[in-house]
Amino acid sequence: MKKIQMVDLKGQYNKIKTEVDSSVLEVLDSTAYINGPKVHEFQKSLEDYLGVKHVIPCANGTDALQIAMMGLGLKPGDEVITADFTFAATVEVIALLQLTPVLVDVDPVTFNIDIDAIKKAITPKTKAIVPVHLFGMCANMEAIMEIAQEHDLFVIEDNAQAIGSTYTYSNGNKAKAGTIGHVASTSFFPSKNLGCYGDGGAIFTNDDDLAHTIRGIVNHGMYVRYHHDVVGVNSRLDSIQAAILNIKLKQLDAYNNARQITASKYSKAFKDEKNIITPSTNSGQKEDFETTDSHVFHQYTLRVLNTDRDALVKHLNEQGIPCGVYYPIPLHLQKAYQDARYIEADFKVTNQLVKEVISLPMHTELDDEQIEFITSTVINFVNS
Ligand SMILES: *Cc1c(COP(=O)(O)O)cnc(C)c1O
Repeated sequence: MKKIQMVDLKGQYNKIKTEVDSSVLEVLDSTAYINGPKVHEFQKSLEDYLGVKHVIPCANGTDALQIAMMGLGLKPGDEVITADFTFAATVEVIALLQLTPVLVDVDPVTFNIDIDAIKKAITPKTKAIVPVHLFGMCANMEAIMEIAQEHDLFVIEDNAQAIGSTYTYSNGNKAKAGTIGHVASTSFFPSKNLGCYGDGGAIFTNDDDLAHTIRGIVNHGMYVRYHHDVVGVNSRLDSIQAAILNIKLKQLDAYNNARQITASKYSKAFKDEKNIITPSTNSGQKEDFETTDSHVFHQYTLRVLNTDRDALVKHLNEQGIPCGVYYPIPLHLQKAYQDARYIEADFKVTNQLVKEVISLPMHTELDDEQIEFITSTVINFVNS
């Protein structure tokens, strides 16, 4: 059996090496290293792929979130609601901009922000909601947009983990993740579903004015050369990364499809296990609303019951199976993000999930022998 990897960037690269290498060499030869034609080409291709009016490339997914919030004109003291169970980047930029993060609990089935918890957290100071499409599946956007409309709030989708996933409204209409809220951010970190070979990110919006504002912010607040109208940042996707992304974007659907096939093999193997809860593909818009294109499995994350999760991690590692715990500590318990207003009873689900979740190897290159070995090793352990 081939050595199992959590993410197999090398195997993926080998399949597109000729195309990627020549695209990168074109950039080197052209010397258009910053904002060259490759960046423009990628921007257009991603706009077409997503069906969104504006893609603004930037340096990474954390910048993308920050710039989206700057573009919306959020002011110090404004409250921004986001999920307690996510990567810290989301809450970090809220705090960095001196906005007030309001962390709320998540749904135990989808792992995404809990709708009732959002409603409960709204105050007159609330200005925005940041749903994170965790592990590759959209949050319940229909319910979130309804709340936002009712309370006049902005919705910023953190789409770092779900690029290419499709959200289906309860009436059957479909939209790509990241095109539903007022603005969205994504990351092209190498291990993301659409990853480059360094850092990269982008902001998406259908709002022409907001897109214009954001294009200035990413470029030192300049709308006319050397005229600085607002305080901006320097955040660019470099041409070499864009050259790589141009090749990889063409593969994104195939990559996501490979992830979905692996996920369904995992879930099939685990389906009769009482101590294992497999990931749902229902974003929560309706009951029994499983759709095959809703989840792009950035991570394949189980909940294990009646099992010492940390002992399982250790056992898998000893068997040569890498795995991950995303995330081991709720954000509201992190030193940097504690707030005297939080009460533990409001974070029941997150507090439970951090003890139960385990993410199995997930990438485009896993074969059946590896999948069989992983699932049987997990099953033996949870039943021992
Ligand atoms: C990866 C990630 C980010 C940050 O992206 P970077 O490109 O690493 O800055 C933000 N939010 C979530 C949910 C992520 O997974």
